[in-house]
Amino acid sequence: MTCKGICTRYKAQKPVGTGRYASGQRRCQICEIFIKWEGLWCPCCGYRLRTKPRNLKYKAKLRARVNAEAKAEESIAINANSEEAAVELLEEAKPKKAKSKPKAKPKAKPKAKAEESIAINA
Ligand SMILES: [Zn+2]
Ligand SMILES: [Zn+2]
Repeated sequence: MTCKGICTRYKAQKPVGTGRYASGQRRCQICEIFIKWEGLWCPCCGYRLRTKPRNLKYKAKLRARVNAEAKAEESIAINANSEEAAVELLEEAKPKKAKSKPKAKPKAKPKAKAEESIAINA
């Protein structure tokens, strides 16, 4: 299974505005080339061709998108939680300052404002 140079005859041009796999091209890992070929096997080296994108870049892209969505939801959840936490902090954090996390201090400010605006609305 080695490249015999035949694949260059089937070499596919990079399509514009679409993916290589989407436009029916297949990838030979051995020849390291995209070819226009209907068969499942490379006409050059005989190795199985890829018909779907399985490269890391594509996967990473997908994962990044999923992560971004998950993170967005997560941060919403965190915000909701920290708002409650901020209320608790405002009510009882002052006497036992040492126990509260250093992070809570700058966070408490905008939360306090949010609470204020809620009070105004109510
Ligand atoms: Zn080849
Ligand atoms: Zn090949």
